[in-house]
Amino acid sequence: VRAKVMQVEKSPDVGYEDIGGLTEELNEVRETVELPLKNPDLFDTVGIEPPSGVLLHGPPGTGKTLMAKAVANQTDATFIKMAGSELVHKFIGEGAKLVRDLFQVAREHEPAVVFIDEIDAIASKRTDSKTSGDAEVQRTMMQLLSEMDGFEDRGDVRIIAATNRFDMLDRAILRPGRFDRLIEVPLPDEEGREKIFRIHTRNMSVTDDIDFEALARDTEGMSGADIRAICTEAGMFAIRDDRETITLQDFQEAREKLEADSEDDEVSKT
Ligand code: ATP
Repeated sequence: VRAKVMQVEKSPDVGYEDIGGLTEELNEVRETVELPLKNPDLFDTVGIEPPSGVLLHGPPGTGKTLMAKAVANQTDATFIKMAGSELVHKFIGEGAKLVRDLFQVAREHEPAVVFIDEIDAIASKRTDSKTSGDAEVQRTMMQLLSEMDGFEDRGDVRIIAATNRFDMLDRAILRPGRFDRLIEVPLPDEEGREKIFRIHTRNMSVTDDIDFEALARDTEGMSGADIRAICTEAGMFAIRDDRETITLQDFQEAREKLEADSEDDEVSKT
């Protein structure tokens, strides 16, 4: 079971240069996660504890996982990822045990960055109904809190959690000594989108008339994940057309296709 829910990766292959925009957010992550791993003496000398856990929150596909991976890479740490939803939906009855295992594995692999995605799945505000499912989620969360609280000698393990639903979180996990550093990861602005387009086309063979600024202007409201999807789709247009280079028109058509697809999604939701 352990192997299935936990994704363990030694220094993942993601660098800071793979992240577009998010300069301030990344600096904050580096200060709270990278610095204590690289330079623990600094905190000893000054006499403060580095933050225990960092919580990244914001819309889906904006680079939260990417940042956690990059920081693990930069510190030569093992990246250990677990998704909150899997903890509670896939392995019913095992949530608390899996959380225990997670921290055990982290200590065995120091230095380690533990990344808990969709933490809202195990740490939502208490619901009124006392169904057994809720009790199980509660136990999983209590285990997580006790692992964090009892983490005096945390050594070289840092914890990053992520959520798209900050409002739903149980405030208990935000108390001092737990996830006490909140970092909002927003959708990219125009400049960020342009950078993300440039990153994702780095290894693509594109014509030199690609107007990245225009693409960035025309993709307001889109996430990094959306932009990556546009780039892939543009490549598919070229392949279907039997061309080896991707043109600006491919990008524009890809963007229109993705926009139309997401509008269909909106309609089917209502
Ligand atoms: P979720 O909340 O859905 O888990 P997330 O914020 O963790 O999303 P990521 O998994 O980091 O999102 O992003 C998904 C993919 O989208 C990345 O692997 C990357 O290819 C692309 N992407 C997202 N944001 C950025 C960014 N700021 N710069 C470059 N690529 C990005």
